[in-house]
Amino acid sequence: MIDIKKKPGAELIVRMEKVNKFFGSLHVLQDIDLSVTHGEVVVIIGASGSGKSTLIRCINGLEEFQHGHIEVDGNQLLPNGKSSKSLQTIRTEVGMVFQQFNLFPHLSVRDNVTLAPIKVRGTSESDAIENADRLLEQVNIADQADKLPGQLSGGQQQRVALARALAMEPRLMLFDEPTSALDPEMIGEVLDAMRELAKAGMTMMIVTHEMGFAREVADRVIYIHKGQIVEQGKPEEVFDNPQNERTQSFLGRVL
Ligand code: ADP
Ligand code: MG
Repeated sequence: MIDIKKKPGAELIVRMEKVNKFFGSLHVLQDIDLSVTHGEVVVIIGASGSGKSTLIRCINGLEEFQHGHIEVDGNQLLPNGKSSKSLQTIRTEVGMVFQQFNLFPHLSVRDNVTLAPIKVRGTSESDAIENADRLLEQVNIADQADKLPGQLSGGQQQRVALARALAMEPRLMLFDEPTSALDPEMIGEVLDAMRELAKAGMTMMIVTHEMGFAREVADRVIYIHKGQIVEQGKPEEVFDNPQNERTQSFLGRVL
């Protein structure tokens, strides 16, 4: 099982308050209020272009926002990028898995996983290797450790990306459509690894179009429409009995 370190007493890990984000004149996030507690699995759904990626990218400072306030595990992110010190802390505490795997192509699978712990955390090489091999085992890919990413299937590469993020012992994991670039037969193996992580108690925020998976793993489903949270609740509430007509119409199209 994956060992997840919890700070006692710190109930909320993410707090977004009145977050607003513009790309030029485009108002991409509108008054986003969103809190996530430790161990919670939050799935974010919504149409293409609704602001899902932007929302989660704001949480680890990959995007700046213009108004409002974000707190991640007690570290403040301020509007317009005015939070450089806490940003570094947040980036080491928050893991992210993208649609494109973004592995280092010239490094072996094992070296992809050990790089950040050695460079950023100062972990010894032998400890980093031991930890990497354990994580690669957990995502069921230990036999590929000496290969280059390009020699692996998409599903295998995405599981390496997951192991790489976990190697930093993140307190929060962000996923942005982690299976959208995969051939259908590889989606299941990535979702399985994510399901294990959820079971182990990891706090996760997941953007996905995999509604069956969302229903199964989510503690809470959030529906975003044009940069606004229009509905949220337990999966059975949102999927079986959506209250907002935009949610109803979206689910009518995707389910
Ligand atoms: P989603 O992930 O839900 O598909 P995004 O967060 O990627 O949506 O995008 C939300 C809106 O912001 C879209 O209209 C998109 O075109 C726009 N957008 C995203 N990134 C940029 C950018 N770097 N510059 C300008 N507009 C952007
Ligand atoms: Mg997106």
